[in-house]
Amino acid sequence: MNDTLQKLARVRMAPSPTGFLHIGGARTALFNWLFAKQHNGTFILRIDDTDMARSTEESMREIYSGLKWLGLDWDEGGDKGGPYEPYVQSERISGGVYVPYVQQLLENGTAYHCYCTPEELAAIRAQARVEKRTRSYDGRCQHLTQKAKACFAAEGRKPTVRIKMPNTPIQVDDIILGIRNIDPGTLEDEVIVRSNGMPTYNLTSIIDDVEMQITHVIRGTEHLNTTPKQMAIANALGLKVPQFAHIPLVLDSSGRKMSKRHHGALVAVNRYREQGYLPEAMLNFVARLGWAYDDKQEIFSVEELIEKFDLGRVGKSGSVFDLKKLEWLNAHYITQLDVSARTDAVIPFWQAEGLVDTTALTAEHRAWLEKIVGAVGERLTTLQDIIPQTRYFFTDAFDYEAKAVKKWWGNSAEKQNKTVEILTSLSQILAGIPAFDLGTVESAIWKYTDENNIKRVAAMQALRIALTGTSFGPSLFDIVVLLGRDEVLKRITRAIVQLSGPAA
Ligand code: GLU
Repeated sequence: MNDTLQKLARVRMAPSPTGFLHIGGARTALFNWLFAKQHNGTFILRIDDTDMARSTEESMREIYSGLKWLGLDWDEGGDKGGPYEPYVQSERISGGVYVPYVQQLLENGTAYHCYCTPEELAAIRAQARVEKRTRSYDGRCQHLTQKAKACFAAEGRKPTVRIKMPNTPIQVDDIILGIRNIDPGTLEDEVIVRSNGMPTYNLTSIIDDVEMQITHVIRGTEHLNTTPKQMAIANALGLKVPQFAHIPLVLDSSGRKMSKRHHGALVAVNRYREQGYLPEAMLNFVARLGWAYDDKQEIFSVEELIEKFDLGRVGKSGSVFDLKKLEWLNAHYITQLDVSARTDAVIPFWQAEGLVDTTALTAEHRAWLEKIVGAVGERLTTLQDIIPQTRYFFTDAFDYEAKAVKKWWGNSAEKQNKTVEILTSLSQILAGIPAFDLGTVESAIWKYTDENNIKRVAAMQALRIALTGTSFGPSLFDIVVLLGRDEVLKRITRAIVQLSGPAA
């Protein structure tokens, strides 16, 4: 690439709005976005909605919002406009953008009308299978006489338009995959306009790439087999094609392509957003799907990605989706947030559970929430984890975890009586201490255990279960202070009732 081209780089992501934003789509967006940032270029978001039956407004909105959430802003595009608008293909179709190109192809003899019916095409395909031909459509309509065409038209047949594939190899010079020579024998004459008059993806895609002055088409390897067809169309029109870069597939651990059909929501960017993954973690994760800087570095800030990402160093083979790695990255990025920012990030999750009402959030309540977040510390893998880890701060409607109860409250009458004794003493002590702060609480509890020869851990865990229902969580002293004296005493009483009752 020379310097002028670098400055003028224009790249695009061209999603079809037929579903959610896929992890692979997010990666395509990121690689394009990084390439544009690195080359002082322009990132375009074009909406490829030629499949009108499957395209929805909702999907389009979800793609916009997913990309915005990731911070992958575009310079020109569907909702933004720009010098080559419209950027939504259905609007371009209604504007007649593709008509003159089809006309030109028909006139210069590189495209022709095909009158074959679906039944005839099925029979041709079946025959091709028997003869083991890779190019199934045999191009028979290329040679129709005017009379034959008129007959078909009189029968009411509506023709498609097919582009003639060349007889010479097509060379694709791919930034990632290198030079590939495509045997023309493998390509059949592609339909570029359906019988209902609608242009197809291969035509609209390359025409738009050329019209929108796209310099580099960076897209998933699943589109690799369409590239020679699109090049053939451009060549037949005498248009200069962009450079191509095909990014390897995202695979699961057994080597299968990660797809909506087989992996469901696991490939949906929104799933991660809803579960409390941070956009920084997602970006870092998808950046590493197929690309590595060296064999050491895993953590990349967006700034570092802009500095270090290199499209030419994206691997040729598929990259494996590792959820554990994403979780690890997310936990890392959560700990990078200071307590105040982390509180901002978890509040929507508390709110969705009805545990916090942001419309009535006082400064005091906010400060209390921050202390809870501080107490939870580095235990969050996702923001959603804040719910199971802190629910008991907001409500005493929890069950005592059976395993924890058995272990720490005891499974014999004798041990349970001892637990009741400990909890009763702790209750009296906590009711009587002059101040309810960390230092006072801690020393009063230690004084009691040490003077009475009670194992610290036994007393702590008995109390923890009484207050939270579980044996895991933040520091017990934090919990005691954050719950406050009245709530602590109330919960100890409830535990004692539970222990003394028939069910205990
Ligand atoms: N519309 C295609 C898709 O959503 C992308 C095609 C392209 O990038 O050329 O998969």
